[in-house]
Amino acid sequence: MNGYVGFSNFPNQEHRRSIKRGFNFTLMVVGESGLGKSTLINTLFESKVYPTKETEESVGTVRAGVEITSVSADIQENGVKLRLNVVDTPGFGDSINNEDAWRPILENIESRFDAYLAQENRVNRSKIVDNRVNAVLYFIRPTGHGLRAVDIEFMKHLHTRVNLIPVIAKADTLAGREVEGFKARILADINYHGIQIFRPVSDQFDDPETVADNKAIGARIPFAVVGSERVVARADGAAVRGRQYPWGTVEVENEAHNDFVSLRQMLLRTHMEELRDATDVALYEAYRTQKLLALGH
Ligand code: GDP
Repeated sequence: MNGYVGFSNFPNQEHRRSIKRGFNFTLMVVGESGLGKSTLINTLFESKVYPTKETEESVGTVRAGVEITSVSADIQENGVKLRLNVVDTPGFGDSINNEDAWRPILENIESRFDAYLAQENRVNRSKIVDNRVNAVLYFIRPTGHGLRAVDIEFMKHLHTRVNLIPVIAKADTLAGREVEGFKARILADINYHGIQIFRPVSDQFDDPETVADNKAIGARIPFAVVGSERVVARADGAAVRGRQYPWGTVEVENEAHNDFVSLRQMLLRTHMEELRDATDVALYEAYRTQKLLALGH
């Protein structure tokens, strides 16, 4: 582990601007407690964000309603500054009745759009603070069956407001052959309900390598992930980030074991700019238009 996150690997010169000014990225994590959200965030960002909870077993805490909390970290790499905001939503899906669990999260996402809109309308727009959510990592419980009502309701209500990235939590708890069937059922549910999720798309200007990379990443969606903040010894003695079992080691960064590497690649290395653009140009713009029409402008 070299403490390297990788967001500063900009694909082309267009992004010089980001290099000079630094940029914001706001990632929201949603899923019931105990699905490994904070562990995955720490794994993705090399423990630069969350205080570790690895030793606590947080499964089973039942809170009343959904809270929304946010932590920020300034990360610098290759001379590029990233202000990373991670928004957590503890309590989501933990109640007996989760019918409306999506509502406070949608309200939070929309209130961030409203705050941005209010700043755009000011005379002096030089210091706009952009706290819009650029992506939601939605954690699916590793049941092996398909999406549950709480997942479908959440995605249906949120997909026009945010870039949705569904992940299968704790993929090491499913047998390898179960994962493919589970993914297929999740995608079938997503299609059936007309839910849009974020996918890497190629266009005619992309070089063949980029097209192939996008295809490879796309084929792994929904990403079945394993997180761990521990370094363990592999059978050959190498120290790797992973989870140890009596029958062997599950390696976080081994693409034969899980999809962590593809998720990190898309989210932080190849598609971070695209997620920010989609937030600004598609999602926010649609919200803004609806809002202004409703106000009769
Ligand atoms: P959160 O409540 O969703 O933030 O979950 P935590 O990150 O606190 O993790 C809850 C528990 O699950 C902890 O004991 C973690 O060590 C464990 N855990 C986290 N990620 C994984 C994973 O990928 N696989 C397995 N088997 N356990 C995990």
